Amino acid sequence: MAKLIEGKIVAKKILENLSDEILFLEKKPCLAVIIAGDDAASKIYVNSKKKKAEELGIKSVVIELPQNCTQQEILEKIYTLNNDDSVNGILVQLPLPPQINAKEVVEKIHPLKDVDGLHPYNLGQIAAGNKPHAYPCTPKGIIRLLEYYDISIAGKHAVIIGRSNLVGRPLSLMLLNENATVTVCHSKTKNLSQITQQADILVSAAGQRGLVKADMVKDGAVVIDVGINRQEDGKLCGDVDFWGAEPRASYITPVPGGVGPMTICSLMQNTFDLYKIQNKI
Ligand code: NDP
Repeated sequence: MAKLIEGKIVAKKILENLSDEILFLEKKPCLAVIIAGDDAASKIYVNSKKKKAEELGIKSVVIELPQNCTQQEILEKIYTLNNDDSVNGILVQLPLPPQINAKEVVEKIHPLKDVDGLHPYNLGQIAAGNKPHAYPCTPKGIIRLLEYYDISIAGKHAVIIGRSNLVGRPLSLMLLNENATVTVCHSKTKNLSQITQQADILVSAAGQRGLVKADMVKDGAVVIDVGINRQEDGKLCGDVDFWGAEPRASYITPVPGGVGPMTICSLMQNTFDLYKIQNKI
């Protein structure tokens, strides 16, 4: 039977410590969030980020733009926030409306204010084996979970399903930097189950319900489920057949309550870390 990796509890502990540190700051850190358009899920995510920031004593500014906003309007907002010394972190909630070039938007955020860690400078630093100003939030949360549970990474075979800039790609580099042997799988990968069966650490970040079946998990593997999907009854689930995989795994994350709370925790930590860099603390 696997030990449950309880991201919700770990995140709570990390955030309690963060809140204590912020309490003693005269000038509070500030996170600015740009949201463009009417995406209902994005609005929920932005509200929960704002709420969490305020709970911790981090100031939050939400800039709302209409669905029909222009590239120029978003870039002007970023320019203003880049030059505003009272703002420490800038986050552009994705996805953006279809007329917007999201890649250009992310690239215009100053790397020192790139609280999501998605700017090519920060991703490039990770690729070069260096420390970025900020790590992407979900991969950072996963590494912290492994550390918290004393799960060693060096020498392990880590298999990641998914190669997005948000999760799979940076996580593969971060695990490599921690001396794992890394295999990255994606939708064109052949014989996925043969590869996952070799994983000491198996991360699924595909967003496909039921993708990882019990027989794809090696005995004793650490299973990290990043996926967020809906079951027929509307409940959330991951990519992994949890009850099938759980008896084989040594550790496993639940969905919800596993990786998700760590992502928002990393966002808050990144805001504070960027504040410290900018204020030379
Ligand atoms: P993307 O859709 O950007 O990427 C999905 C990746 O999975 C792609 O690389 C894709 O391959 C690969 N993939 C899809 N289907 C398969 C398959 N059948 N076999 C192998 N590989 C496959 O998603 P994100 O990375 O943004 O997110 C992934 C999941 O994680 C989603 O469910 C998302 O909601 C969730 N998520 C959860 C977070 C959390 O905090 N818990 C945070 C961020 C995301 P290809 O590149 O070839 O298309």
